[in-house]
Amino acid sequence: MIKTKLNALGIEADLPENIHFYDDGFISDLKKHSAELCKKYSSSLIQTKEGFFEFSVGNCSSFHKNNQTFVHIYYKNLIGAGQNIFNRGHEETHALVDLGQLYLLENLVKTRRLDVSPFRSSDEEFIADIGGLCALNSQHNQLNKFDKFLVYAQNCILGYSFKLEEWMKKNKF
Ligand SMILES: [Zn+2]
Repeated sequence: MIKTKLNALGIEADLPENIHFYDDGFISDLKKHSAELCKKYSSSLIQTKEGFFEFSVGNCSSFHKNNQTFVHIYYKNLIGAGQNIFNRGHEETHALVDLGQLYLLENLVKTRRLDVSPFRSSDEEFIADIGGLCALNSQHNQLNKFDKFLVYAQNCILGYSFKLEEWMKKNKF
């Protein structure tokens, strides 16, 4: 087992020796980075979790090669520390799914006495957004009022999901 830290979520995972996690950090061109990873792992499949690159602000790509699994996350540098924390927490959650470790986030949500019912659904984007919120919650002290406003405003503009808004209200987030 190898201890791996997902920094935005503040989660530590014990990964089997053949499963690897990489946080590639800020990337200006998601599609280009995805293509480079595909080349590295000799994969022809350029993957995007959201289904398109144009409006995406981050991505998680997983590859299987020689009995090994490689999971990479990468994301754009956005306006405001809050957005970046949310975005990174979102992608880290996709990574947890691909690493087979999503239960770690579910446990965290449970510990905070928040509603875990979305984890029973197959809506990975919704769950990833909850991961984004949990990351914000973990790193709350780092954010000023303006950063918090930006997070709220951008989420509204992007219309992340009504489901997320409902979940936030229900949990008094
Ligand atoms: Zn996503």
